[in-house]
Amino acid sequence: QLIYLNDRFVNKKDALVSVYDHGFLYGDGVFEGIRAYEGNVFRLDEHIDRLYDSAKSIMLSVPFTKEELSELTVETLKRNQLNDAYIRIVVSRGVGNLGLDPSSCRRPQVIIIAEQLSLFPKALYETGIEIVTVATRRNRSDVLSPKVKSLNYLNNILVRIEANLAGVSEALMLNDQGYVAEGSADNVFIIKNGEILTPPGYVGALEGITRNAVMEIASGLGFPVREQVFTRHDVYVADEMFLTGTAAEVISVVKVDGRTIGDGTPGELTKKLLKEFRKTVTTDGTK
Ligand code: PLP
Repeated sequence: QLIYLNDRFVNKKDALVSVYDHGFLYGDGVFEGIRAYEGNVFRLDEHIDRLYDSAKSIMLSVPFTKEELSELTVETLKRNQLNDAYIRIVVSRGVGNLGLDPSSCRRPQVIIIAEQLSLFPKALYETGIEIVTVATRRNRSDVLSPKVKSLNYLNNILVRIEANLAGVSEALMLNDQGYVAEGSADNVFIIKNGEILTPPGYVGALEGITRNAVMEIASGLGFPVREQVFTRHDVYVADEMFLTGTAAEVISVVKVDGRTIGDGTPGELTKKLLKEFRKTVTTDGTK
């Protein structure tokens, strides 16, 4: 496996970074998770734009142009002879001294990893998943914006730990006001009376690229879709529910905190959206 590290491709065993990198010491950096389907890097431009926006927000300058980084991403896929893959781009603040101050870091480090996928088992797309809500809260946009996909993923990791403890594969985070924000690495949608609803970013959600794609697909098909704040109660009484994310794609949720959603099987509209989403993944992007 070849990994892109700063200025060249190196073997996995040689892809090492310093313990003085502020990405390691402080979670100071940004990242993207991207999928490739049959050699097509799904919505690469949007991922690259989001990476640069995240970096700008934390005053980190990516030492490449967007075009260069896009090309390197596609090249990483090709060098590893992968068609279907998960790609991770990381830009960390770089190597500095032990202090917090990022001005001691001379050059951001850029890492691109492309790997074979490990996904939710296929059967879960047929049955839907069970999730819980957890105690960990998502910060709202008035603090560090949840739109910044930073290397600080402790909230999300705590969500995963709570999900593991509850014996389920994913969990929902609420914000400090009790509104539903998102999953550990996915956005959340509910469907009620034919209307498709997802929390607005300011509640404390990343503006997911899969979320955008699904919203576009839904409105293209003529289904009403809008951003709306909602609570756990609204989730419990929804007709259908699903999560979206680069890794999860569109996955139906059939039970939340022990409450059965709809009839306990993936809803018709959710299934349709997954089907339509999968139609676009090999063409919507960069080859
Ligand atoms: N929310 C968080 C916190 C995430 O890390 C991710 C994954 O990237 C998502 C939502 C889903 O976003 P996307 O569809 O861009 O993968």
